[in-house]
Amino acid sequence: MVRAIVGANWGDEGKGKITDMLAKESDIIIRFQGGSNAGHTIINNYGKFALHLLPSGVFYNHTTSIIGNGVALNIPYLLKEIKELESKGVPTPKILVSDRAQILMPYHILLDTYEEARLAGKSFGSTKSGIAPFYSDKYAKIGFQVSELFDEDYLKEKVERVCEIKNVLLEHLYQKETLVPEEVFQTLIEYREMVKPYVCDVSAYLHEAIKEGKNILLEGQLGSLKDPDHGIYPMVTSSSTLAAYGAIGAGIPPYEIKNITTVVKAYSSAVGAGAFVSEIFNEEADELRKRGGDGGEFGATTGRPRRMGWFDAVATRYGCRVQGATEVALTVLDVLGYLKEIPMCVGYEIDGKVTKDFPTTVQLEKAKPVWKVMPGWNCEIRGIKSYEELPKECKDYIDEIEKEIGVPITLVSNGPERDAIIKRK
Ligand code: GDP
Repeated sequence: MVRAIVGANWGDEGKGKITDMLAKESDIIIRFQGGSNAGHTIINNYGKFALHLLPSGVFYNHTTSIIGNGVALNIPYLLKEIKELESKGVPTPKILVSDRAQILMPYHILLDTYEEARLAGKSFGSTKSGIAPFYSDKYAKIGFQVSELFDEDYLKEKVERVCEIKNVLLEHLYQKETLVPEEVFQTLIEYREMVKPYVCDVSAYLHEAIKEGKNILLEGQLGSLKDPDHGIYPMVTSSSTLAAYGAIGAGIPPYEIKNITTVVKAYSSAVGAGAFVSEIFNEEADELRKRGGDGGEFGATTGRPRRMGWFDAVATRYGCRVQGATEVALTVLDVLGYLKEIPMCVGYEIDGKVTKDFPTTVQLEKAKPVWKVMPGWNCEIRGIKSYEELPKECKDYIDEIEKEIGVPITLVSNGPERDAIIKRK
């Protein structure tokens, strides 16, 4: 059975924790998109980890962790992450890397950094991990696929061709040092030696695994609203964040994805630029940011303070719809325990008209939130194990979200720890 774990919001919904938890009953966990540009925070018996590239299943002995072909593969970063786990006492995980994955090059990071600087105030809020230049090259057919590392003549010729294009930009647009083809080639040869032990025909491996009835998890990065097609373009990431892309980014048939566990956050947070209708500011935001997540809402990759907001039912219903959510895991509910009243954004007012449909970006920029205020439960809910024991106001809040999004909420997360989870249905 294949299950996707994806985000309905702007990312940071707590997918890492849910994946880590569900990985216990899984055989294989796959990253199918994105790169090291966003992190998952996981707290378990080995300590606290911020994983960026490895799937959140690496903590179990029985799982195989896979980097699918859809990922932006930063090879030195991958090895660094593996070493970090080993140094903290995690048993060496079984890792496979798709021979069709493409390689994130050092010049992708440089180009990302130079472009952000060039755009200055008008930048997209990139994490400067090279993701946009990487995917641009992939689709421009000037990326390097892992399989190509093993044919030196082919590689040499391609490096020459790629450097020619990159050097025009580096020299004339950014006025920076140009690439030396021989050095780029050497880097690729070093990468080949690093990645060699992990390389595998992942799609064929998964074909067999599915036949054998293995439990497989597809772990998404970021959320629906950062999808390049269905999100808040252009303030989006450069690979699809949707469960549907899991089929492509892992190399499996789309109809095998039976379960789409969509992670929804009980309030909103976002990093980077872009319209954020339910955003709150000043002390109200500071308070929520300070209490949010596990020790505050700051980006796992960049440490940037996240922008904060109340739950946005319009964006989340849409986020669940484009994911094709079959069930929802509602996270960080415990964080809201300090509030006497909890506002929820239940509509957008655009040009004097109220809508519940999530609009395209141009319209979104004009949207003002329509609030509904729910009574808070105003107490600590961490440590509660059964749904019945939750305060009435808390259950009402969950029911209200479920009614708004139209997808069953089956899991409620009331703390960052692996076992802080309440099964609802
Ligand atoms: P991801 O990218 O979706 O995996 O999300 P992140 O890991 O970046 O952010 C989620 C943050 O919330 C992390 O710091 C988690 O440890 C924390 N977290 C996850 N679930 C809960 C929860 O139910 N309650 C609290 N307080 N924190 C949580």
